[in-house]
Parts: sequence; structure tokens; C-alpha cells
Amino acid sequence: MAHPYCLQNALKKRPPVETTLFDMFKIGPGPSSSHTIGPMKAGADFCQCLAGLSDDRLVRASNIHVTLYGSLSATGKGHGTDAAVLAGLLGNTPEHCPPAVLPGLQADPEQSHSVTINGRTFKIGLKDIAFGPIQYDSPYSNTLSIELRDAGGKVLFAREYYSVGGGFIQWKGYTEPERGKPVHPYGTMRELSTIVRETGLNLHEIILDNEMAITGMTRPHIYERLNSIMEAMYDSVRRGLEASGKLPGTLGVWRKAQSLLEHSMEHNMPIGKGMGLLNAYAFAVSEENAAGGVIVTAPTCGSAGVMPALLYAMRKNLNVGERALCEGLLASAAVGFLAKHNAGIAGAEVGCQGEIGVASAMAAAMLAHARGYDGSVVENAAEIALEHHLGLTCDPVGGYVQIPCIERNAMGAVKAANAVLLATSEKNGQHKVSLDAAIMAMGEIGHEMNAKFKETSGGGLAVSMVEC
Ligand code: SF4
Repeated sequence: MAHPYCLQNALKKRPPVETTLFDMFKIGPGPSSSHTIGPMKAGADFCQCLAGLSDDRLVRASNIHVTLYGSLSATGKGHGTDAAVLAGLLGNTPEHCPPAVLPGLQADPEQSHSVTINGRTFKIGLKDIAFGPIQYDSPYSNTLSIELRDAGGKVLFAREYYSVGGGFIQWKGYTEPERGKPVHPYGTMRELSTIVRETGLNLHEIILDNEMAITGMTRPHIYERLNSIMEAMYDSVRRGLEASGKLPGTLGVWRKAQSLLEHSMEHNMPIGKGMGLLNAYAFAVSEENAAGGVIVTAPTCGSAGVMPALLYAMRKNLNVGERALCEGLLASAAVGFLAKHNAGIAGAEVGCQGEIGVASAMAAAMLAHARGYDGSVVENAAEIALEHHLGLTCDPVGGYVQIPCIERNAMGAVKAANAVLLATSEKNGQHKVSLDAAIMAMGEIGHEMNAKFKETSGGGLAVSMVEC
């Protein structure tokens, strides 16, 4: 019998990718897509559910209670998960949540807030959000339940949510929403490459065609939204480069993006300058993320510094045009989609290889595509970047997305650039490992990785550093 993770199995006919660009690239507050953005969306969704309840149920309701389980409970304090759910319940959505909301909620943990639904008002505060068991029988490690209760504690309505990575949420009984079907269906890189070959279309055109078919959006509308995504990425670099001081939390981590930028200017050798700039840009965004600033999930908050570092450098230092950047972003999405589809992109699911590893692979694909290399180079660059993150654990110290996360973004950005260098120096047919094989390996390693290395801060650096 074939090994469950062997390439033959990977390449069997798989259901097509139906993730969309704006499922993948979401603008929202840091520091964690699964621990901040997902829970905020769960809170907002719960309010929408309440709006659909009959008046006789609402009239008996008194308060809302939340319980966090698994990884959300283990590292939710450091990630601000409790404040994020509360912000969602108070009507905020990740894309439109003003930066002051989360720190404002965290500043007064005793305060009770009012949620008004159909003219009825219920009370909720941080003290109504419980950190439940870390070991919990659930299909996903990032689980939270939200309950509407009467004054005696009786549950009138409840929903169990799963934050499944990258800011995506599901809930018990969830079914995928009805959407269009992709016109170029693919479930693996091999199938995608075949479509490129047979249609003569460019990789980014295939992603665009599918996006239009799945979402019903027009091409100009997609480009307009992609431009907003890129602007949000550039903004996060600029804000991070201008900021200074200590990051929130108990670790006492100083922001370093500014000094890295200054240091990069002192380098005489192009390699030092290039790497120094990538480091500074990646730090800038990751520090913004750690501070709860607005970033773009690419594919997650924890790894949000990698893609913007490359994008900013391509625009500012390599003078790559906006159209090529946009097309590179589309190509990068294909890599993120396949990683999500066939392995996972959440630290809590597959470790940091799914966050920084996938971000690095996406960034490598973006750089190679934007610079005009053909599909095989794009695939090989992404594969190299991912291959050399395989096995990377998720062990955020103290539950904060700071150590090792911030430096790790810089390493992911530099590796992406080097992966393109390696891929472009190969001759046709020399490359041995396919992107499908690397993604399959990531899935196996991630799913068999001990839970203490998957965003619970129960092992690795999170333990050794604290105990030193
Ligand atoms: S270690 Fe990696 S996966 Fe874990 S929180 Fe940090 S960036 Fe995310």
C-alpha cells in the first residue's frame, strides 16, 4: 500500500482549489490571523446569528459568554484573542477595525460593554471570556464557543467556531458557501502547470479567470482590490520603518526596523545592502503586526512581513512596474492556495513551516513571476523556499508573535530571494523536487508534529528561552 503522504497519492485527482484571492489576502489587525482575525470574525458572525433569532428568545437573553479552547486558550492572552472576539461582538470587522480598538479593550479588563441586537441589549466584557482546556475534543485546535445566556445562565443560543488558519473560520455544521466553480480546475501544481501548457495562458491569467468565475467579480474590480492589498502592504512597511520603542507585552522586545534600515545603508557590498533592506522591510511589518497594527495576511498575520518585504523592495529598489507586481501577487496566490489545499497554512495546524515557509514560497513565486521567468522557474523557486523551511516549529515565546516570529519573517524574505537565485541558475530539467512533493512533505511533517510545537508555546524556544 502506498504511503499516505507519497507523491502518487498527492497527485491523484484532488478536488479543485476554490480559495479566492481575498480569502487569502485580508487586511486586518495583528498579531495573529488564527488568534486575532479569525476570533474577531467569529464574534461578528455570532452577532449576525443573533440578529436572526426570534424576539421571544432575545427577550430572555441577558449576557454573552465565550470560552477559548486548545491553542486559543494556550496563547490567546499574548495574541489578544479575548479582545479580538470582544471587538467582533461589538460590531468590528478585521478590515475596518480602527487600530485603537483592541488596545482600548485590553486597557480595562473589568469593563462591561453592551451589544445591541434588534433593540435588545446584552452585556459582555473580557471577564466573560474564559480560557478553557488546552486539550479539547475538537476537529481543530483553535476552537471557541460563544453562548447567549439568560440571567440564570441557561444557554439560549450557542455556536462552536473553529479558526482554521489564515483568518478563515468555520463552525459546527459549517458548509462551504455556494460559489461559482473555477474555469481552470486544479488541485495540484502538476495540474496547474498542465493548464498553463495546454491553454498557453500565463499563470496569473489562470488565477484571474478562476477568481472571476468563483466570485463573480469583474477583472477591473479584482485589480482594484489587489491594488488596495498592495497599498496596505506598502503602508505597513512605511509605518513600521517610522516607528520606534518597545513592543507590547512582557518580553520587552525593542523595534529594530529603523536601525536595520540605517545599517543597510552603511553596506558597501550589494549583497549586504540587499539583505539589509529585506531584513528592515520584513521587520517593519512584523513589528507592526506584533503591535496589533494593520497588516495583510500573506498567508497569515505571523508571516505577514515576508511578502511585503519583497514587494516593497521590488517596487522601491528594483523599479518593477505596478502591473508586474500585481501579476506576481496573483502568481504567489497559486502557491498559497495549493499549500492551504494540500497541507495547511496555520502554525497551530502544521507548525511555522505553514506560515513562514509558505510565505517564503509565495514571495519567491511572486519575485520570479514579476521578473518574467517562466512557470517552471516560478514553481522551482517556490519549491526551494518551502523545502528549506520544512520541519519548522511554531513556538512563540510567551505566546507573543515576537520571538522567533519577527526575525523569522526576515529569514523567510531573504530565503525567498535566494530561492529565486537558485531556481534561475538551473538548467531545464535539472530540478529534482516538485512543489507538490514539498507541500505533501509539509503536510506529513505538520500533521505528525507534536502539539507542543504548534502554537501552544508548550515546547521549543517558548520553553527553553523562558527557563534559561
Ligand atoms: S512561530 Fe511562526 S507560526 Fe508560530 S506564531 Fe510565530 S510566525 Fe506564526
